[in-house]
Amino acid sequence: MSDTLTPEIPQIPLAGVIGWPVAHSRSPLLHGHWLKRYGIKGHYVPLAIRPEHLAEALRVLPKAGFVGVNVTIPHKEAVLALADVVTDRAALIGAANTLIFRPDGKIHADNTDGYGFIANLRQNAPDWHPERATAAVIGAGGAARAVVASLLDAGVPELRIANRTRLRAEQIRNEFGARVVVYDWGQVGNMLEGVGTAVNATSLGMDGKAALRVPLDALPATALATDLVYTPLDTPFLIEARERGCRTVDGLGMLLHQAAPGFERWFGHKPEVDEELRAAVLA
Ligand code: NAP
Repeated sequence: MSDTLTPEIPQIPLAGVIGWPVAHSRSPLLHGHWLKRYGIKGHYVPLAIRPEHLAEALRVLPKAGFVGVNVTIPHKEAVLALADVVTDRAALIGAANTLIFRPDGKIHADNTDGYGFIANLRQNAPDWHPERATAAVIGAGGAARAVVASLLDAGVPELRIANRTRLRAEQIRNEFGARVVVYDWGQVGNMLEGVGTAVNATSLGMDGKAALRVPLDALPATALATDLVYTPLDTPFLIEARERGCRTVDGLGMLLHQAAPGFERWFGHKPEVDEELRAAVLA
């Protein structure tokens, strides 16, 4: 029988998350919730890929019916060199968390962490106006780079940053431009003076890690404080900021929102980030 007589088999789209290890990822829970909720015939699976197998995996996955993947540690930087098209924001951040396997065979790499960060704040603090006051970012790791890019994009007039390893903060200033001002790690307390937005982008405060201990005396009560850490939801930084009268937004919403653009591209439905999704991911 010739191929032309073979009926077209409808493809069930597959997506997933690649990492090493990957078992800790909440992405399968999150996307699984959306697939079920919208009645979409598709699957989202965790894929444990060793670093030495990354290039091969990206060649094979599209041929196996995958329409794209999320990318987690340790592959976020390495995928940039393997992608055919890299968005400006992923290139600037130096990492990608969302890959789209296009029908023409090209791999498109994007970074949606910054989008997720801003969308979370806009949803949970609708009267937040980033363009009206200075922002302060504590930490200069991979996630901080996405936060810095998104805050600058949202129009903050000045962005202060401090990191234990000062060099990483200086690299961010060199790459992101003159609105970025570097503070010493010992000066974080002073850095918070007069800011409208304060972000913990370090991993301090995570379950099993030391708390972020910085004097918050200078943090204005009018500021919005947010944390990228979401285990626990209420971090020592957020608790202390709230005691000072600040509005606080936890980091789980960033995780939920960063997933939405990928889901829409892969499965053709714009998903909602709401209480039902939060509950499903926390369960
Ligand atoms: P990363 O690249 O490893 O950076 C870690 C950051 O924490 C660096 O700034 C590091 O400073 C700082 N740090 C770690 N231990 C420290 C200590 N003992 N004292 C002072 N600073 C310390 O990690 P990442 O990818 O940026 O992630 C940072 C946090 O954000 C993690 O908790 C991660 O789970 C969370 N995150 C959340 C989301 C979300 O959707 N909510 C998304 C991405 C990441 P040095 O440079 O000096 O090491």
